[in-house]
Amino acid sequence: MGKWQLQVDGGKCVASGMCEAIAPDHFRLDGVSQPLDPSVDPADVVVEAAESCPVEAILVRGSDGAVVAPRD
Ligand code: SF4
Repeated sequence: MGKWQLQVDGGKCVASGMCEAIAPDHFRLDGVSQPLDPSVDPADVVVEAAESCPVEAILVRGSDGAVVAPRD
């Protein structure tokens, strides 16, 4: 399976810290949240973090570009 791409929209992030709490290996708050590595192996915890973001600032795309999370 290919890598997933992580993006955080710094203009949307309200620094709630949810993503870092859920997935500390993937997100770090530095004012706003940033992916530690924008290219990651597929992992449920990344989806969980994106789904938990209160403002949907995290976008996870598959290697084919399709949106993995958040889902409606
Ligand atoms: S969960 Fe969303 S709003 Fe909260 S720090 Fe992460 S990206 Fe920002």
